[in-house]
Amino acid sequence: MTAGSTAASRATEDGRGSVAIRGLTKSFGATPVLRGVDLDIPDGSFLTVLGPSGCGKSTLMRIVAGLEQQDGGSVAIGGRPVDGLRPDQRDIAMVFQSYALYPHLTVFDNIALPLRMRRLDFARRLPIVGRMLPGVGQTEREIAQAVRRVAETLQIEPLLARKPGQLSGGQKQRVAVGRAMVREPRVFLMDEPLSNLDAELRVHMRAEIAQLHRSLRTTFIYVTHDQAEAMTMSDQVVVMMDGRPLQVAPPSVIYEDPEDIRVARFVGSPR
Ligand code: ADP
Ligand code: MG
Repeated sequence: MTAGSTAASRATEDGRGSVAIRGLTKSFGATPVLRGVDLDIPDGSFLTVLGPSGCGKSTLMRIVAGLEQQDGGSVAIGGRPVDGLRPDQRDIAMVFQSYALYPHLTVFDNIALPLRMRRLDFARRLPIVGRMLPGVGQTEREIAQAVRRVAETLQIEPLLARKPGQLSGGQKQRVAVGRAMVREPRVFLMDEPLSNLDAELRVHMRAEIAQLHRSLRTTFIYVTHDQAEAMTMSDQVVVMMDGRPLQVAPPSVIYEDPEDIRVARFVGSPR
């Protein structure tokens, strides 16, 4: 992928993509799922959340995204508390394991959808001003340009007229990433985005996501239970177990110097 020169790439030196998570707790019924999560994710960095199934990774992502409400603690993005804000007010985009593309829409329309929704939303809330402010209500022509830039970056231009049913798994995943990218979020949340792909394609897409991060310089929070994925892409890895981070460190440190026997067992390192 060659994202370096697109408008979707922007430096985030102003810190607007930093994420600070403090004392996050969440229970479903009587079952605690998050038991006090503290994490600091610097602007522009790549953090992988690694841990066994059921340890609370998706719940954590859904709370950061605003799709789920925490019981206690707080989340700040770019230094701004976002608790209580809707997902679309948080400057984040999320890519799930199930790509959730709209089967009746073309690839072009799937990617354009978030921008069209944003325009509708502004038009509804600010019927006159919304039309006058540049950027808030992008014209159809501007939207088309943004979709083409994203498609070029992800090398899916030839697919724009197709429907999701005519795409391979890897192509669908690229479209899902494109739909997240088009909003130019400060923070990307990816929850096991590759787990529906076959092994060979996973390795390929892993390299592409790492490349995407290098060129966009936005913050990535990437969830996986696959150690190889965590070890190859990340600046930092957090190993989670039973709703708590056990260790946060660069991948080599997690592997060579695990702080906890449970971390060592999970990553299968010699200690
Ligand atoms: P992970 O993504 O690490 O596999 P999850 O965050 O999805 O873990 O789930 C953590 C625990 O919370 C699991 O035991 C799961 O069954 C439970 N859980 C998740 N979402 C809900 C929900 N909406 N209602 C009840 N229990 C849930
Ligand atoms: Mg999960």
